[in-house]
Amino acid sequence: SAQDRVFNFAAGPATLPENVLRKAESELYNWRGAGMSVMEMSHRGKEFMSIIQKAESDLRKLLDISDDYAVLFLQGGATTQFACVPLNVCKPEDPVDYIVTGSWGDKAFKEAAKYCKPNVIWSGKPEKYTGIPAFDELDQNPDARYLHICANETIHGVEFKDYPTPKNKDAVLIADMSSNFCSKPVDVSKFGIIYAGAQKNVGPSGVTIVIIRKDLIGNAQGITPVMLDYKIHADNNSLYNTPPCYGIYMCGLVFEDLLAQGGLVEVEKKNIKKAQILYDAIDESKGFYRCPVEKSVRSLMNVPFTLEKSELEAEFVKEAAKEGMIQLKGHRSVGGMRASIYNAMPLAGVEKLVAFMKDFQAKHG
Ligand code: PLP
Repeated sequence: SAQDRVFNFAAGPATLPENVLRKAESELYNWRGAGMSVMEMSHRGKEFMSIIQKAESDLRKLLDISDDYAVLFLQGGATTQFACVPLNVCKPEDPVDYIVTGSWGDKAFKEAAKYCKPNVIWSGKPEKYTGIPAFDELDQNPDARYLHICANETIHGVEFKDYPTPKNKDAVLIADMSSNFCSKPVDVSKFGIIYAGAQKNVGPSGVTIVIIRKDLIGNAQGITPVMLDYKIHADNNSLYNTPPCYGIYMCGLVFEDLLAQGGLVEVEKKNIKKAQILYDAIDESKGFYRCPVEKSVRSLMNVPFTLEKSELEAEFVKEAAKEGMIQLKGHRSVGGMRASIYNAMPLAGVEKLVAFMKDFQAKHG
């Protein structure tokens, strides 16, 4: 029952909306009279066609995606996109620019180095990935084919609040939006490619969503495996091979839910409120809790924080788990704590965490 559910602050796979899970449960054995589960359907049958088409059209509504863009439902996670992007968008000798604001951007850059000539034009590493660069100070290569960013660094909790423009007017901006996808409105027309693993904000793991301007499709390097060629997937409406059918179905249910909430403007308001009360609790703790990220670029989705008395961190995580708030341990590379508060984390979950933090401080402060 609902009472048995924990508040899951995991970074991904992450909590999903309870009403979405209930809906999926209600049609698990017999999807809308089909006499079978979505897991058992042919991906080429009319039932699944209606599912994937509805998922795509609802996502187009949510993000106001124009017909100039293709929407692809792929596999391989965002990690596969780290290779797909350079393989499809440039030649081996092409220069491209990366802004590295955390571990994920760094991984994307390192993968690109196998397929083109990437250059890190800004790295937040010296400041332990706590900030975003001033765009007018970026030293962009005028010949770069694209400029890559990670819109929200899941581990470090650093989020772009607006976006840089590529200096080369023929180049495009490309963003890994895995951990803030559909958490707020985004002007898709500013981007050449947006990609995201589903397992944070919009569904289970196994689905990777790519939104790509159509003129970027069809230029893959000769060595590109067929599964990594955007043209193959675009020409076949994401059905070139067997897609992650059930995951796509779940994403579709989440998109419906986000539309029913009033769309991404309303969703963002909720996310701002949740993040605000958590950051306020940290900032008002007189140093007992600390978030290292520059205030103006703090993530609405992933809130990293440390304890002044770091020896208490394990106890914090353990005590919180006893109260049904799980997965609060920070990523192994940075330590401390991290609360991921994606779309599906209810306000009540954040309020409970904040109350717990105050109690914990009263006990140990
Ligand atoms: N990019 C970001 C921002 C992430 O948070 C993750 C998280 O897992 C990844 C990429 C890697 O995604 P995947 O595990 O889907 O390959």
